Amino acid sequence: MLLGLLSFAVCKPIDHIIRGATIIDGTGGPRMIGDVGILNGSIICVKDCNNYSSTSEIQGSGYYLTPGFIDVHAHLDVAPFLDNRMLPQVHQGITTVAVGMCGLSPAPFNMKNDTLIYRFFKLKIIDEFKQRPFVNFSVYLEEMGKKSFPVNIVPLVGHGAIRSMVLGNDPVDASEKDIGKMKEIAEEAMKAGAFGMTTGLIYPPGLFANTNELIEISKTISKFGGIYMSHVRSESDDIVKSVEEVIKIGKEAGIPAQVHHFKVCGAKNKGKGIEAVNLIEKARKDGYDVTADQYNFQMSATTFSSLLPPWSIAGSAQDIVNRLANSTTRNQIKSDIINGIPDFDNMWQNVGTPSGIVFLSAPGHDEYSGKSVAELAGAQDPLEWSLDFLMNNMEDDALCLFYEIQEEDMRTIMLKDFVMVGSDCQFVDLASSNKVHPRSVASHSRFLRQYVKEEHFISMEAAIRKMTGFPAERYGISSKGVIKIGYDADINLFSLDKINDTTKDTGNPVLSSGMEYVFVNGKMIIQNGAVTSNKPGNVLRRYNYPISTPAPKTPDNNNTSKGKNYTTTITIVFLSITSITLAIIVLMKDKKSEKTAITEAILV
Ligand SMILES: [Zn+2]
Ligand SMILES: [Zn+2]
Repeated sequence: MLLGLLSFAVCKPIDHIIRGATIIDGTGGPRMIGDVGILNGSIICVKDCNNYSSTSEIQGSGYYLTPGFIDVHAHLDVAPFLDNRMLPQVHQGITTVAVGMCGLSPAPFNMKNDTLIYRFFKLKIIDEFKQRPFVNFSVYLEEMGKKSFPVNIVPLVGHGAIRSMVLGNDPVDASEKDIGKMKEIAEEAMKAGAFGMTTGLIYPPGLFANTNELIEISKTISKFGGIYMSHVRSESDDIVKSVEEVIKIGKEAGIPAQVHHFKVCGAKNKGKGIEAVNLIEKARKDGYDVTADQYNFQMSATTFSSLLPPWSIAGSAQDIVNRLANSTTRNQIKSDIINGIPDFDNMWQNVGTPSGIVFLSAPGHDEYSGKSVAELAGAQDPLEWSLDFLMNNMEDDALCLFYEIQEEDMRTIMLKDFVMVGSDCQFVDLASSNKVHPRSVASHSRFLRQYVKEEHFISMEAAIRKMTGFPAERYGISSKGVIKIGYDADINLFSLDKINDTTKDTGNPVLSSGMEYVFVNGKMIIQNGAVTSNKPGNVLRRYNYPISTPAPKTPDNNNTSKGKNYTTTITIVFLSITSITLAIIVLMKDKKSEKTAITEAILV
C-alpha cells in the first residue's frame, strides 16, 4: 500500500518519455531494453521511467535509442549563414557538428589577404561577413550565435587562419616574434570558446609552417584544454612520417592530438596503414593521447587546386595564375606533378588516371559537374587541360572527387577503437544541380547501413560509440554523447532496417532516411520521421566544460564500469526519492493527522 502510494507520489510529469527502446548508450557498453525520459532539455531517467508520466509518450519498442550523433569533422563553418536547415545532418541524426577543420576556419580573417579560406567558405556571398567581417574568433561566434539552426556547433580555429593574420599567404618561416603573435591570436580564439586548433598541411598558408611553429602554438591551445587536429602533410608516400609529426606535436606541446580523416592514398602505398596504426598504438601505450577520425569511402574530395605542388600555391590567386601562365614556372609545375617532389601529397599520381578525378562543382561551369578530367580534356593532354582550367578559374576554386583511398587500409583503420567517425562533409546547396561527395549527405547513415547492417563488419555498440560518446569525450563535452541521467537530451530513435542512403558516387545529393525521432537539447528536430521547424542548436564553447578529459577507453573496459555505474545511479536515485518522500511524510505526520499528511505528500 505504502509502496503504491510512493510510486504514485513521485509520478512526475515530464516533457517526453520513450518507452521500451533498445538503448545503446554511446559508451560501447552492451545494449539494454528500457525507457528514457526528457525534462527541460536533459535526460531525467534512463532504463526505468515508471515514476514519470508525459503527454508525449513515444513507443520505442523495436527501435534503437542512441545519443545524437556527433560529427567530429565537418566543413560547415558557414552553413548557418547559408541554409540554416542543415538537412543533410538532421536526416542522419547528426545533432552536433565540429567545424574549423583541416586548418580552415572563416575566423580570424585577414582582410588584407586574398586567400583560399575566402574562396573555400564563399565569404563574398555571406551578408553577415560583409557587414561585420570575422576579424577575430569572438566576432564569428557572436554572429553565428545570432542565427537559429537545428544542431549544436563545436567551433575550432584553423591554424591557416591564424597564420594568415601574421604572415599572409607567404611561403616563409615564422620568426619567434611571428610565433608570439600567432600564440596571442590562438589565445583569443580559445578565450572566445574554441575547442582546439586544426592544421591543413597541404593547404596554403598552413603548409608553410614547420613543426616547431605548430608545437609552440599548440602549447597555448593546450593551456585552455584544447585539442590539436591535423590534415597531415602527406596521406600517401609519407603517411608514416606525417603521423609521426602529429605524435611529436602532441608529446612536445602536451596536448591531445588527432589525425584528421586517417587514410592511405595511392595504389603503391597500399598496406602502409598498418605501419601508421602501429605508431599511434605505440604512442597510446606510452601514455600519449593520440586518436584519429575517419570517413568510410574510397574517394576524397577537395579543391581542384590541391593538384598543384606546394611552392606554386603561395600568395594570391593572381600569383598562382601568373605561375601557370609563365612557361618556365608552368613547366616546373608539370614536371613536379609528373615526377614528384619531397613533401608534396601528389594527388595526380595518387589517383593514377585522369578518369579518377571527377568535378563536383565548378563555379561558372555547371556543365562540368559529374564529369571526369579525362572526359573533359577529350583529345587534349589531361594535365595541360587541368592547368589551363586552373589558370582560367582560380578565383572560384572548383571542388573535385579523387579516387585515391585504399580500401584495405580503410578497413584496418575503421576497426581500431582510437578511431571515430567524421564526415569531412562540405556544405551542400540543395537548390543547385551540383554533384556531391556522398560523405556530405550520407557519412553516418552509410556507416550504419553498409558496415553495421549489411556487412556486420563492426558491432552496433562499437559503431555508435565512434559517433557519440567517443567524439564527445575527445572534445571534452562532458554533457553529451552518452545516454545518462543529467546529460543533454540529444537522442536518436531509429530502426536499423530503415536506415538508408542512396547518393551515388558523384551523384546529386539525396538526403538519408530512417530516423524516426531526433531530439536536440530536448526538442524534436525529427518527429515521426518528418523534419520539424525547431531550431534548438547552440554554439558550444570550450570554457563551459571542465578541462580534464579522461583518456579514451576501449569498449570492453567500458562494459563493466558502465553497467556498475548504471546500477549505482539508479539505486542512488531510487533511495534518495524514497527517503525524501518518507521524510516528508514523517514531518507532516508530526503536525497533522495521518490522512492529511499522506494527501499532501502525494502533491509534493
Ligand atoms: Zn582535410
Ligand atoms: Zn576536412
